[in-house]
Amino acid sequence: MKPILEVKDLSIEYGNRSVVSQMELSLKNGNFLAIVGPNGSGKTTLLRAISKVLKPKTGVIYVDGSDIAPLSRRSLARKVAVVPQESLTAFSFTALQVVMMGRTPHLSRWQTEGALDYDIAKDAMQMANCWHLRDRPINELSGGEKQRVIIAQALAQEPKLILLDEPTLHLDIGQQFEIMELLKRLSADGLSILAVLHDLNIAAYYADHLMLVKEGRIEAVGSPQEIVTENNIRRVFGITVEVKKHSLTGKPYIVFVV
Ligand code: ADP
Repeated sequence: MKPILEVKDLSIEYGNRSVVSQMELSLKNGNFLAIVGPNGSGKTTLLRAISKVLKPKTGVIYVDGSDIAPLSRRSLARKVAVVPQESLTAFSFTALQVVMMGRTPHLSRWQTEGALDYDIAKDAMQMANCWHLRDRPINELSGGEKQRVIIAQALAQEPKLILLDEPTLHLDIGQQFEIMELLKRLSADGLSILAVLHDLNIAAYYADHLMLVKEGRIEAVGSPQEIVTENNIRRVFGITVEVKKHSLTGKPYIVFVV
């Protein structure tokens, strides 16, 4: 199947400091790839390059077969939606207003949203289980509710690929479960997902593939079984863990060893 995302020889610097070095990755349509690795290893920077927030020093990024370099941010936003780590919600927009903003890349400059946009926003909110929150001010929602609204906004963009940066950060375990189950459903429906995840057990449980990064370089890419190994964890995170196999799913999970 044609890849939805291909990254070739990507290097990124801040000032003169190399943060991403010669990364290569390919994501198949409808797949869920999790990026894992220590803080400061360039994960957010990679997502920012794919969404054209920053310009790489070298390399080419193809989305759905097209080099993104000549594309406007707006036309890229019709294919790629981003759920950033921290979403600004300083104003008290309602949840529905926030989701409707996801339609912006599809509207011409002076066009306002119409009935079709409303229907798409409603579908997105129903998919993300937050339609009942539509009239609530976004800044009064709980962390998990707010995250579902932000994901609905991304879905209202009707993207082919969604990038998420630690989508379960600051959420309690029940809310984490809800968000990850939502991503699993979206992936099963054909949406391609690239997510930075900080919890290795969650990444191994939900993603099709894991990409392990350290100091701006890809250390390994593969199935959860291939990536979540005692050696890899020691090499990349510098800690000793025991990797066990989930009795029902066969997926690997780590336990700490003292
Ligand atoms: P991760 O997402 O893996 O935690 P980041 O991509 O956020 O890593 O950061 C990679 C490195 O780049 C870190 O050392 C970070 O301090 C640095 N960095 C991130 N953003 C900037 C910036 N705007 N200016 C300079 N350095 C930055």
